Amino acid sequence: MSFNLDDTESHRLSQKVDDLMAQAESDLADLVRIPSINFPGYDRKPVIDCANAIADLFDQAGATQVETLTGESGVPTVRADLAGPPGAPTVLLYSHYDVQPAGEAEKWETPAFEPTIRNGRMYGRGAADDKSGVITHLTCLRAISEQPPIGLRILLEGEEEHGGDFEEWPTDNPQAFSDVDAVVINDMGGVELGIPTFTTELRGIAQGIVTIRTLPGPVHSGLFGGPTPNALTAMIKLLATLTDENDDCAIDGIPSGTWDGADVSEELFRNLAGLDAKAHLVGTGSLADRLISKPAVSVVGLDAPEVATAATAIVPEARAKISVRIPAGTDWHEATTAIARHIARHTPWGLQADFEPDMGAAGTRLDTSHDVYEVYSAAMATAFGREAVRQGAGGSIPFVANLVSAFPELPIIATGAQEPSASIHAPNESVDLSELRRVATAETLFLAGLGAVSGSTK
Ligand SMILES: [Zn+2]
Repeated sequence: MSFNLDDTESHRLSQKVDDLMAQAESDLADLVRIPSINFPGYDRKPVIDCANAIADLFDQAGATQVETLTGESGVPTVRADLAGPPGAPTVLLYSHYDVQPAGEAEKWETPAFEPTIRNGRMYGRGAADDKSGVITHLTCLRAISEQPPIGLRILLEGEEEHGGDFEEWPTDNPQAFSDVDAVVINDMGGVELGIPTFTTELRGIAQGIVTIRTLPGPVHSGLFGGPTPNALTAMIKLLATLTDENDDCAIDGIPSGTWDGADVSEELFRNLAGLDAKAHLVGTGSLADRLISKPAVSVVGLDAPEVATAATAIVPEARAKISVRIPAGTDWHEATTAIARHIARHTPWGLQADFEPDMGAAGTRLDTSHDVYEVYSAAMATAFGREAVRQGAGGSIPFVANLVSAFPELPIIATGAQEPSASIHAPNESVDLSELRRVATAETLFLAGLGAVSGSTK
């Protein structure tokens, strides 16, 4: 299978997307103005208003069967279709319209829900994550709706950021996916601005709480200090064994690999993390190995007496939360067992630590051997003027993990306009408008290219 779109058609569609961008920007601004924060304690009305506004946009753009479907959670999923020619494939387009809370207002240069354009970027909460995805799908629909080369099924959820019913859709509503030939998840971004990128791996997580008790209660450190085991010291010794002499994860039984896709720029990474230039990066391997293919262990919480009120006493009990990001393909139950085994082996002084697993999630690996990747790669090369790369990502979209396990054969492509400078989940989130255009062009050319391929073979 190759990219079957002739140059004239490819040029016509790229031009069409260019012409649609002014409308896309104004629609994006309208959506950013709606604070669709689906978190506990926030007003539900803007979430519903946002779903209705999106449904209207898709309806006006020529979609059919536009509906807002509300389950038990009360948060609507926007669903729309576009019928393709008989025998043509159907592509499912996914994004989410709910957004993170804005956080502290004073950290925003311009208000979070007043979209503002500076230096070619639109600033505002959700401008990138993930209303840029909604607008990309809308623009593609507008570009092809007069003469659809393929069929579309559009699903836009409102429960991605905080969780909800939608992640169960693949098992609860299998009929929504059974006639679908490929899925485009537009909720990601490039390794850098202007570099077309497929996200093909998402790390999983295994974590739990370890408790060490050494005494029934605190005892005077003058009378007992020396031979008496201090729970906090025991905890420090145990936590120190979680990484080896190279600062790599030392927990046996969690697989570790190397990443063969694009590496991560150290300069960009340091800037995004806000890391001091003199501080060393931790662990071994390429940055992408450490961020995608190797397990990464972090102590994320510690309960011990507070410094301000600490007595001169031997500490009888300490607790710590251990969180391990695991490479895709690792069973999180097995990873949790490996953490428990490590703790049992390394707790000092004949003490017994309690380990309580607290949460876990599988990572996701998308199969890039499907032919649709070839078509999408060609579309990206045309839209961006350079070849696409692959990357992994730290977080997980629960819906995608469930979709992969429910429909393991279904080709899934994850991409989008949320490149690193988009600052998603942070103050001053933004989307680069030329990146948005390139992403919309690539998606449109992919849909047309897939239609052309199937048209030529059927
Ligand atoms: Zn998102």
